Amino acid sequence: MSERGVCSFIYGCPVFPYFHANQMMDCMRQYCLGDYGQCERRKLRLAGEKVPADLMPSGCKMEIPKVDISVTPETVEQVCTIL
Ligand code: SF4
Repeated sequence: MSERGVCSFIYGCPVFPYFHANQMMDCMRQYCLGDYGQCERRKLRLAGEKVPADLMPSGCKMEIPKVDISVTPETVEQVCTIL
């Protein structure tokens, strides 16, 4: 069964700020604010395994530049209204 909505890891995850800063709406819609149950980062975290820093939600690897923004409920709400 698929899980949808706002990922519970959104406030600590380094990937969401990266998606947000780069206006990667499709990625946010597909994973962090959508079908988060499909996210490979989330699956590893829930399994108690180490999450590689370069792991994207799709399972591919790429360097994820650190983005210095704090994600707040207001940030999430703002993005939800855009999506
Ligand atoms: S990248 Fe994955 S773990 Fe991080 S907020 Fe998005 S869905 Fe959650």
